[in-house]
Amino acid sequence: MELRLYDTLTREKRPFMPLDANNVRMYACGPTVYDFAHIGNGRAAIVFDVLFRVLRHRYGAEHVTYVRNITDVDDKINERAARDYPGVPLNEAIRKVTELTYQQYQDDVTALGCLPPTVQPRATEHIPEMRAIIEKLIAGGFAYVAEDHVLFSPQAMNAANSVLPRYGALSKRSLDEMIAGARVDVAPYKRDNTDFVLWKPAKPGEPSWPSPAGITVEGRPGWHIECSAMAWKHLGEKFDIHGGGIDLVFPHHENELAQSCCAFHSDRMANVWMHNGFLQLESEKMSKSLGNFFTIRDLLAEWPGEVLRLAMLKTHYRSPLDWTRKAAEEAARTLDDWYEVAGDAEPGLPSPAMVEALYDDLNTAQAMAVLHGLRSAAASSEQSRKELAGSLRLLGFLSESADAWKSRKQQASGIDAAAVEALIAERTAARARKDFKESDRIRDQLAAMGVVIKDSKEGTTWEVAR
Ligand code: AMP
Ligand code: ZN
Repeated sequence: MELRLYDTLTREKRPFMPLDANNVRMYACGPTVYDFAHIGNGRAAIVFDVLFRVLRHRYGAEHVTYVRNITDVDDKINERAARDYPGVPLNEAIRKVTELTYQQYQDDVTALGCLPPTVQPRATEHIPEMRAIIEKLIAGGFAYVAEDHVLFSPQAMNAANSVLPRYGALSKRSLDEMIAGARVDVAPYKRDNTDFVLWKPAKPGEPSWPSPAGITVEGRPGWHIECSAMAWKHLGEKFDIHGGGIDLVFPHHENELAQSCCAFHSDRMANVWMHNGFLQLESEKMSKSLGNFFTIRDLLAEWPGEVLRLAMLKTHYRSPLDWTRKAAEEAARTLDDWYEVAGDAEPGLPSPAMVEALYDDLNTAQAMAVLHGLRSAAASSEQSRKELAGSLRLLGFLSESADAWKSRKQQASGIDAAAVEALIAERTAARARKDFKESDRIRDQLAAMGVVIKDSKEGTTWEVAR
């Protein structure tokens, strides 16, 4: 079976050929840590977690390196630190904000069923690598110093006669059009209005580091150079897959690609560029100002993480995803059923048909169709039950036992399991003495409590009604 992935740069689905099958390397842009992550960020984490799992399945768990960075230098972080920790020295306050937010993010995405990436580098721990790339770019004529800033020149890149890709190729923008369309109030130290910042002087009190290129005042990096530096350090000059949300294609990824290719005189930074579509809420753009905004934390208070994960994976990762309550309810019902059927099954090999769907550019929507077919077969086949369990695990589901799943739901619904069991025992006794009036009465009593019972040869089981 061939693995095929869609590449944003070439706009085609291609067979995936790792540079080194013993070490398949992927990078995904992670969170800027100043506040709770929203469910759109959750979607990005889940999508690249599925990719990570698929690669591990294909190449072996120990042959895949997944780097997801933590952006801990940002104006929003500085503002939050000053607001939340008045009186605390800014650098200390910043550390508190980033530590706390990082831990929250970690807990949230773990609850969503995401495996920890192999490395989670922090921007602030890669300043020397950033300075080194900046020095290379200046030496190569792609960047220049002006008023204590270092700027990258896309024009210089496109003028270079070499293996370099064209600036604008990833986002399909023409540099000439960008020049024509750029705002006029451009910072005076820029030679061209499309030049972007690699390094800038720090404002008083802001975190700062010794500057590159002989600049005497301390400074701080631009956002794009952070990812070029972290990817280089942990994955090398060229690696297999670079990912993130579709909003990052321009300018972030276009600029990362430009920096890395120019610094290393390379024709590419990553072989495949992958971008997840945006998540919107009830058909509207998710935004704080509209008030239709959910953090992962908000939703985890109401739903188990696997429910959120399933609701997201029903849609192909490149399509926009409309988040609705109805989708979560439906996912919850599906998971209740899967847990009941396969939660305690010995996991077998995942279904080849499901793996084939995932190998087709992570077609999780098609994978769901396969799972539903397997679920039907599992009603009468132990083999299918095992295959269903193995398939669900590959996708990051069934992380708890069937019992744990059920009791969590009971707790959430406030139903007293012991009282239910006692009523069921009374009903079984009534049925045994053929007192059907009493057994029906108990069934109604349970229904009024929100409990549905099911009789079978093995006895009576129950679940919380939805
Ligand atoms: P940020 O912390 O905003 O830099 O975003 C972290 C990751 O989440 C990036 O890969 C973003 O592209 C992605 N992301 C942000 N908002 C959304 C959204 N509404 N839907 C899907 N992905 C998003
Ligand atoms: Zn990035």
